[in-house]
Amino acid sequence: MQGNDMRNQTIAVVGTGYVGLVTGTCFAEMGYAVVCVDIDEKKVEKMRQGFVPIFEPGLKVLFDRNRKNGRLKFTTHLGEAVEKSKFIFLALPTPPGEDGSADLSYVMGVTRQIGPMLNEYKLIINKSTVPVGTADLVREALEQQGKRAGIDFDVVSNPEFLREGVAVDDFMKPERVVIGTSNTHAGDLMKQLYEPFVRNGNPILMMDERSAEMTKYAANAFLATKITFMNEIANLCERVGANVDAIRVGIGSDSRIGKQFLYAGIGYGGSCFPKDVQALAHTSEEYGYQFKILDAVLAVNHTQQRALVAPMRTYLGGRLIGKKIAVWGLAFKANTDDVREASAHAMISDLIKEGATVRVFDPEAIETTKAVFGNQIEYAADLYDAVAGCDVLAVCTEWNEFRKPDWDMVRDSLKFPAVFDGRNLYAPSHMKELGFHYHSIGRPYPKEA
Ligand code: NAD
Repeated sequence: MQGNDMRNQTIAVVGTGYVGLVTGTCFAEMGYAVVCVDIDEKKVEKMRQGFVPIFEPGLKVLFDRNRKNGRLKFTTHLGEAVEKSKFIFLALPTPPGEDGSADLSYVMGVTRQIGPMLNEYKLIINKSTVPVGTADLVREALEQQGKRAGIDFDVVSNPEFLREGVAVDDFMKPERVVIGTSNTHAGDLMKQLYEPFVRNGNPILMMDERSAEMTKYAANAFLATKITFMNEIANLCERVGANVDAIRVGIGSDSRIGKQFLYAGIGYGGSCFPKDVQALAHTSEEYGYQFKILDAVLAVNHTQQRALVAPMRTYLGGRLIGKKIAVWGLAFKANTDDVREASAHAMISDLIKEGATVRVFDPEAIETTKAVFGNQIEYAADLYDAVAGCDVLAVCTEWNEFRKPDWDMVRDSLKFPAVFDGRNLYAPSHMKELGFHYHSIGRPYPKEA
């Protein structure tokens, strides 16, 4: 079957969050007929009316085009979508359970529903990040729970590597596609399905299911470790009087190390790194192996997310009770409204515990933050409104609009001219010239240099 013939196939995507909605929209953009399934009726209704439920650059244009031309549809009826689709992608949540393991209840719950719905040969493709062995569990559940006699299926592991904020670009031009299956026929169908996305020559990597599942965790754990290593270097820089920016350039120009993920700051957050590092550590434990690096990464990141609290407390006379802190940036990184495990949220929780009041601004993540903190904090209309009446300013997300603010306006609004920068957005020498007390991560303030 050639790539073009494949486009007659309907694809079902179950779960329309950051991964599912981007996956569905991008497949539709490539000409496939896609039906997105979600359990959330309100969300499905809104999508049917043309509302994109997440902020993701570039998504709205593709979403609108394909919804209008009828290639992108939405439903709450799993059965309807499964019956007419050959390819069934699972893009369901795998949140951390209480013990840190990945909670497979969404994936397995939907799998058990799908079993009796199989009416002809289908591929059940797992895009959720799942522990090693999940493809086997899905296969067993489908076999036990209702595969009708004579109807065949295959289970494929197809981990997703998109980054929120550039998810559409990542999906449309992936650096690699990982396909885990031990079945040649299923592998061939998957290669054909993805063929339009790799015309630039980037590889489709074929491997067994377990290796594909492990590849996703290894990638995220490695990246989390790289960030954490740099944060530890930054913390040491502060003590020895070195500048982490210089070290970043110094080591990043070594091609064995590479330039990316070397930016020191107040730790990583998001819906993936924190839970995936925990889940991999948990898998290691289950298999009787202590993955010591991961334990260190988890501990260091927990501390790093709160790295601005102590300097603010010290600057404000040793206590935060009764102080008012302005916070720029709530999303776990720029260009998303996702606040899951965001460093800003970890810091804000600690500030509230210490009796401070908090006034926040983020270009996209106000609503998602309201869902977490409600009226425990104040929400500002813009970055200048955020600093009004506050003692000091903390910067937690690297949004472009924070990079060149009108510092005179900021200084005039703050009670104390002090900026605590968790993302190293500003030059310490410039901040000094402007008359600010400036604290960043791993970089000396000029007077200490
Ligand atoms: P999400 O929470 O944004 O979306 C999950 C969606 O699934 C929601 O819309 C929810 O309503 C829906 N859902 C829940 N139960 C359902 C059910 N029974 N039937 C149908 N829909 C149901 O999650 P996400 O961020 O898209 O992540 C999904 C998976 O992809 C996770 O395993 C995650 O680790 C992985 N992943 C995420 C990213 C990322 O950047 N967000 C990147 C790569 C991989």
